[in-house]
Amino acid sequence: MNPPWQVAGTTRVAAVIGHPVRHSISPVIHNAAFRALDLDWVFTAFEVAPGRAAAAVEGARDLGLAGLSVTMPHKADVVRALDRLTSTAQALGAVNTVARNGAQELVGDNTDGAGFLDALRTDEGFDPAGKRCLVVGAGGAARAVVLALAGAGAAAIVIANRTPARAEEAAALAPGVARAGSPEDADGVDLVVNATPQGMAGDLSLPVRAAALGPGQLVVDLVYHPVLTPLVEAARERGAAATNGLGMLIHQAAHAFRLWTGEDPPLEVMSAAALADLALRN
Ligand code: NAP
Repeated sequence: MNPPWQVAGTTRVAAVIGHPVRHSISPVIHNAAFRALDLDWVFTAFEVAPGRAAAAVEGARDLGLAGLSVTMPHKADVVRALDRLTSTAQALGAVNTVARNGAQELVGDNTDGAGFLDALRTDEGFDPAGKRCLVVGAGGAARAVVLALAGAGAAAIVIANRTPARAEEAAALAPGVARAGSPEDADGVDLVVNATPQGMAGDLSLPVRAAALGPGQLVVDLVYHPVLTPLVEAARERGAAATNGLGMLIHQAAHAFRLWTGEDPPLEVMSAAALADLALRN
């Protein structure tokens, strides 16, 4: 049993900045982890208007915030306010986590790809090395997934996007491994990833034809609300293994937690807190 939780003058503050951000599940996940480890930390959410992310990072620097998560639409904008980027954030041109290195330096990282790989390997027992993959979407999440899959040794990555030019840009992250294609390329691949908002609450559309899915494939829908997305449902009905984006969300948060606190993240606590919160939202 943890002692009662008190926020005091000594409490270290971490936060997510985004727009809109009040619905963010990050405070639930991180506060559950802080409490589980009895850390004198608290996590909140700051609504930051589009175009104001760099100013917000300067504010965070002056206020001594101990860690920042960055979400839409600020992941590219914060780059210019940081002192250093990890090689992953540099390649993606996007930051989802800011950590302090000493008192002065703010370092931008992108833990989405590492979180995605952890979810694949740890939760699904799927090693992308040598596998053929289809990624639908070419936005920030898709780009992180493409870079991570290539780094993990995927044999081939096809990127299908509504705007084909953006698929070409994403393919340039993994020369020789990734190429632009179409959802029709789902036939025969080992891994299908939905990195579009298709399937989010109320949207029943599928990013790929259900008939292209079947046994031997793993389908990962980065959408996690609803927990059972139309794609996950269709994939399971056709005999494919399928999971939603909650695993990636938890594992990318776990990477941030470790960067900020230096502690091992309590994954099960974080996952249970997220599931309980999503159940309330339903
Ligand atoms: P983003 O940068 O805005 O990219 C959105 C992508 O989806 C673009 O490729 C866009 O195509 C495509 N798209 C949007 N609406 C579409 C539609 N109606 N039909 C077909 N394609 C559509 O967003 P993001 O950050 O990459 O996020 C994408 C999804 O991943 C979201 O659902 C988000 O919630 C989820 N996500 C999950 C996690 C996690 O941890 N599980 C992390 C990050 C994101 P165009 O290029 O043609 O506009």
